[in-house]
Amino acid sequence: MRGPARAATRYDLTVADSRDPVAVRAALVGEAARLRAELGEPIEGPGQMTYGSQAAAATHVFEQQRDLALRDRERAQLRQVEEALERLDAGAYGVCRSCGKPIAPERLEAIPWAATCIDCARAAR
Ligand SMILES: [Zn+2]
Repeated sequence: MRGPARAATRYDLTVADSRDPVAVRAALVGEAARLRAELGEPIEGPGQMTYGSQAAAATHVFEQQRDLALRDRERAQLRQVEEALERLDAGAYGVCRSCGKPIAPERLEAIPWAATCIDCARAAR
């Protein structure tokens, strides 16, 4: 099912306190599990449905491409979440990978897998 409700809950993951490793770990592990579950879902391929018209076929192809693009993003995000868990294990969580300064707690609470501080994230764009 790919409804709007699911889209709305996509990025609502937050951590109440980024300095609490137990809460951070729970959030990251939960997010990794959600992403793995989504990535495990099959994408409906052509031939699995009969097309009533060219327009329906075109819509289906469009949806498939959108799903594939979404999947690429989810795969990239899963990698970021896994790296954040590794940093947590290594005691390097919350330290900017780029400049070595601490990442602002507000940023980590909004994006628990953030690998860089806001300044480096802006500079990278
Ligand atoms: Zn930085």
